[in-house]
Parts: sequence; C-alpha cells; structure tokens
Amino acid sequence: MSVPERPSLLSLSMFSAFWWLSVLGGWALLATAVAKVATSSLTIAGWPLAMTAVLLVVLELLPLVEGRGHDPQGVVMSTAFVCGMLFLWGLWPAVLVVSVAAFASDLNVKKSAWKLLFNVGQYNLSVAAGWLVMLATNHTSSLQHPLAHFAGRDLLWMVGVWIAYFVTNDVLVSGVLAWTDSFLAVVLDDLLHYTMMTFAVLALSPLIVVLAQTAWVVMPLLLIPLVLVYKTAQMSLDKEHQAGHDSLTGLPNRKSLRNALEESLSRARRDQQPFGLLLIDLDHFKEVNDTLGHHVGDQILIHFADRLRASVRDADHVARLGGDEFAVIVSDAEESEVRTLAERIRTSLVDPIAHDGMLFDIEASIGIAMHPEQGHEPDDLMRLADVAMYDAKETRTGIATYAAARDRHSADRLGLLGELRQALDDGDIELHYQPKVAMRDSSLMGMEALIRWEHPQRGYISPDEFIPLAERSGIMPLLTERVIELALGQLSDWRCDGLPVPVAVNVSVSDLAGPRLVELVSAGLRENHLMPGMLQLEITERVVAEDSLNLDSVFRALAKMGVSLSLDDFGTGYSSLLRLQSLPVDEIKIDRAFVSRLADTSDGSGIVQAVIDLAHARGLPAIAEGVETAQEWDVLQSLGCDGAQGWHIAAPMPARAATEWIRERIALTGTVIASAAKF
Ligand code: C2E
Ligand code: MG
Ligand code: MG
Repeated sequence: MSVPERPSLLSLSMFSAFWWLSVLGGWALLATAVAKVATSSLTIAGWPLAMTAVLLVVLELLPLVEGRGHDPQGVVMSTAFVCGMLFLWGLWPAVLVVSVAAFASDLNVKKSAWKLLFNVGQYNLSVAAGWLVMLATNHTSSLQHPLAHFAGRDLLWMVGVWIAYFVTNDVLVSGVLAWTDSFLAVVLDDLLHYTMMTFAVLALSPLIVVLAQTAWVVMPLLLIPLVLVYKTAQMSLDKEHQAGHDSLTGLPNRKSLRNALEESLSRARRDQQPFGLLLIDLDHFKEVNDTLGHHVGDQILIHFADRLRASVRDADHVARLGGDEFAVIVSDAEESEVRTLAERIRTSLVDPIAHDGMLFDIEASIGIAMHPEQGHEPDDLMRLADVAMYDAKETRTGIATYAAARDRHSADRLGLLGELRQALDDGDIELHYQPKVAMRDSSLMGMEALIRWEHPQRGYISPDEFIPLAERSGIMPLLTERVIELALGQLSDWRCDGLPVPVAVNVSVSDLAGPRLVELVSAGLRENHLMPGMLQLEITERVVAEDSLNLDSVFRALAKMGVSLSLDDFGTGYSSLLRLQSLPVDEIKIDRAFVSRLADTSDGSGIVQAVIDLAHARGLPAIAEGVETAQEWDVLQSLGCDGAQGWHIAAPMPARAATEWIRERIALTGTVIASAAKF
C-alpha cells in the first residue's frame, strides 16, 4: 500500500505530457542559447550583465518560500532579475543564466533528476513566453542591441511580459502536479497564493533595467527590498503553519485535519479511491494526567505523537485533535489496509513509554470510518469514527470499524452525555436517600445518598447507565462535586432539624484518582460546619482490587481527616486478603448478588458467613445490601450480620420522604447509631 512518488514518464498522462513538453522545449531553448551566445559574446554587455547574472544566481539559491499543501512553486525572488535580463539583453542571455541558476539551486537542495530537468525546462519556456510578448509588441533586445532607454510607456509591455511569464510558469508546474490534485485546483491555488507576492517581486524589474543602464554598482542594494519581501513571505507562512498546528506535538490540529479531510474527499471522488479515517484515544490517559500531573501527561503525548508519525506512511495525514485524541487520514486504502495500519499503531505502543526513569504502559483505542462506504462528508466521517472509537473502548477490542448496527446505541449514549452536562447546569440532578439499619434493633445507622436523574423526555435514567459514561468523559468530577454539595447540604439541614444522621456518598474511581476529592470534602465539611465523622464515602471493591492505581495515599488522607470509608459491593472485586488488611476502611457492604442467593442455596449462606467473619476478624461491621425479603433478613440476622439496607427496610426516597422516615424510625427505636465504630 505505497503511494507512488509520481506517475510514470513513459505512459501517457497529464504529468508526462507536461514534463516532456517542458523538458524537450526548455532544453532545446537552452541548446540554442548556448549556440547563439557562443557566436557573439556575453562580455559585450560587460559589468552590468555580470552583476545582474550574479544577483540572479544568489537569489535563486535562497530556499523557496513554501509551506502550502502540494509541492509548491513558491515565490522565487530571482524572477525580477530574470525579467530584467530579458528586457535588457533579450531571450538568449536570460535563458542561459536562468538555466545555470536553476541547475545550481536544484543541485544545492539535491532535487531528483526528473525535477531538475523539468525545472530548467520550465523556466526557459516561461522566459520564452515573456519573449513572445516582447516580439509581439516590437520591443526586442539582444546582446548586440540592448534596451537603451527606459521610458514610462515601456511599463505597458513589461506588464504583459510578467503576465505571460507567470501564467506559463503556473500552468506548466500545475500540469506536472496534476496527479496530486486536479489540474484546475492546483492552477487556481497557485494563482491565489502567489500572484500578489510574485508581482511584488516582478515590479522591481524596471528598476533593475534602469540601474543596469545607469549605475550597475548599486544594484546589490536591490537585495534589501527583495530579502525583506522574502522574510515577510516566510513569516506569514510561518504564522499560517502555527495556526494549523498543535504547539505541544507539532502535529497538524483539528482545523488542518478538517481541511485535509475535505481535500481527501475531493481527491477520492475524482480518483474513485477509498480512504479511511482513524480516531485514536489513549486509554486511561486522564488518570495519568490527574495523578502524575500535566507535565508528565504532556511528555507522554509527545512520545505518542512520535510513535504515531513513525507508524504511518508519508502520504497519511496525522493530527492531534486535542487532549489525548489523535486522528489519521489513511489515503488510497481499502478497509483491510486501514486496519493493518491501526494495528501497527497499537503495536507501536507495546514497548512502554519511558519518561523520567518511569515506564508507562499506554494503550490506545482506535475507531475507523471508511469513505465511501460509510461517510461522504467530513463531519459524518468524524462522528462515525468517534462512534467506532467508543465501541472499541467499550468492547475492549482496541480497534473497531464503524458499524451501523451499533450506532444507535452509541449515538444515544453520546447524546446522553451532552444531556447530562445540561442536567448538571440546569440542576436536574438530585439525590435520593436509602437507610442502613442495625440488625439487632432496627435502629438507624445512616442514609446512603444515591444520585437520581429524571430526564425530561426519556424519564428515569439509572446511575448504572450514566455513571460509567461520565467516568470516561471527564464529566465525573463535576458530578461528584454536585453530589457532595447536595449531600452535605442535606446533612446540615438534618442536623438543624435535630436529626444527627450520617450520610454516605458513593465515589468512583476517577474521583479517587483525581486530585480534588480530598480538598472538595474538607472544604465542604468546613463550609457546612460539619463533623467529618458524619460523612461516609462508599468505594466499590473493584476499585480497591485494582492495584495499579495507587490510591492508598488518598484513602489515608480521607481516613486521617476523620471521614469514614465503606467498602461497597464487597465480593465483586476479588481483592486479596493482604490488600484488605492494609486498607483503612470502617465498614464492609456485602454485595446484593450474594444476598439474593441466600434463600436458594446453602452455598449462598456459606459465602455470606465467610464475608461476615472476615469483617469481624478485622473488627469491622458487615452491612448487607439489597435485602428484599423478611426471609433474607432473618437468615442474615442468624449469620451475625450487623446491618442491612434494601427494599425490605425502605427503598431510596426523595429528601422530604427520607426526613419523615428518619423521624418515624427515631421515634420507634429512640436512637441513631451515629458511628460504625460503635459495633
Ligand atoms: P450501590 O452504591 O451499590 O447502591 C445500591 C444500589 O442498589 C442502588 O441502585 C439502590 O437503589 C439499589 N437497591 C437498594 N435496595 C435494593 C434492593 O432491595 N433490591 C435491589 N435490587 N436493589 C436495591 P442505584 O441507585 O441504581 O445505584 C446504582 C449504583 O450507582 C450504586 O450502587 C453506586 O455504585 C452508583 N451510584 C449511585 N449514586 C452515585 C453517586 O452519587 N456517585 C457515584 N459515583 N456512584 C453512584
Ligand atoms: Mg453504595
Ligand atoms: Mg453496592
């Protein structure tokens, strides 16, 4: 799947036609020029010609001002001198000197032979086109009869020469570049970008004429404006480059990618060639960024960008879209080839990225959208690749091609995220509260806050559906902030009402891995003048079991503050006994799955018994979740379970109903067991 460097010169194409035309025509002109000049002598023209020729060659050796999409002609500063020579001494000296200059400049930058041959020919034909205008307007000059006097009206035919020169040059170059894009597109692109600058340079040619006629010694002064024009052109192209590139990795940015996508689409339509768009997202990058800081995150992105560049072909367009999202346009490729490239990118990450003595195992998820099978517009392709990328993440396959069948699902979820953001802004997120009670006397131990989202159209959406989405999208910190704010507000209200009930809040892995949780909790407690012991954080055991996240310091900071920690969903995470031993938790919640199996089998009660014993061995209370029936309650009681939560006691309820429930329960049992430590 390699893109050929250029079409063949031996088969008929616009490329080969223009190339042969320029080379045969241009080199024939050169041969004639050599013969003609040899029979007269360049020295007749003396120092003025020598000076003009030297300056022409010097300027030609300046690097091209370029930076546009296709291999550009750019703005050539020597053009003013080429025209100056043509005006003064006619066609042959101009052809001779411009050939030497073009040859020297191409050798200097080590251009390939076919380009060198073409460039010399192309210049000569352009000069000849200018010469035809001189012939047509009866203003020929030669070594023997140089242009003697310059009058204002000469400007008229000189402008004609400029136009003929510029247009011929543009058409010839566009003709050979037509295989990279459509002929007309290249012609127009060059006309658009180089006309003003080229004419600014050409406008100096009458001055060259005048100086050569009257004061050739001061001609080098002309270099000053020319070099200034050159610098300005370079600066403006540098600016254009910056606007289209990401400053961290140096890769093209989202804006450039869009332009490149549009170009790829128009090329693909013309050549009937398929191409693919890859969207790449680093897995768990946010956690690295949050725990180790942006500096480390940035270094990893730079390393990744390097590997990405090394994995793709020259013709592919790589871009950074922002954050840890990258994209590649894989040109002229079938889906299987695009997949191969995606695999190559993932393989490039097999070796961990080393930074500052640490090794980072980075993985990426890649979504693929293909043109023309799947998308015909840039926005469509971006969206489809995004859907595929989420698919790759969710199914943990690493690479996924867009599949319409899965789209509705994913698109719904993407839409849901946007709406969740809106719900947070609009205050549509609230908390319901579910009691935890002591099994020995049914007294209240505390209330667990559970997030509730009543969607205006879709109705109730379960946290199990939107919390994982929020976790992945970076919206989770906002959500947790709101939950803690609401829960602490409620705690404070209850305390004012004379109801000192502890409240438990669920926190997720990204909260724990992030930098803000400890600060958020301590500031919230301070603002509401609350004792830290009144707040409990529930952490699911699955998070704790993942040793790779170094969460111990967060746990310790929270425990030190006096906030109580509860190990939620115990039994689902397979954490080791050793790990359990070292955790500063105050309570263990037995997962609902074990409770619901209690009634069915004796195995069920065996496991629950083991968990309760484990908790007690560490001096911790065990609380059963999801207690739905009196039968379950009785079995749990007989097993020595300390607390229970579930529909059998009460379902989660809105704040007002919860307040009523609390009042009734306190009236009934006369107490709140405000601290887990009382067991
Ligand atoms: P969890 O912390 O284990 O919460 C218990 C879940 O069981 C709740 O589901 C609750 O409504 C439900 N439940 C309570 N009693 C019974 C019962 O007797 N039978 C059955 N079948 N279910 C019962 P919910 O509210 O849908 O929450 C699901 C999970 O979402 C929670 O599991 C928790 O992990 C997470 N979550 C809820 N609110 C938040 C929050 O504010 N922040 C975070 N990070 N996670 C939350
Ligand atoms: Mg919970
Ligand atoms: Mg639970």
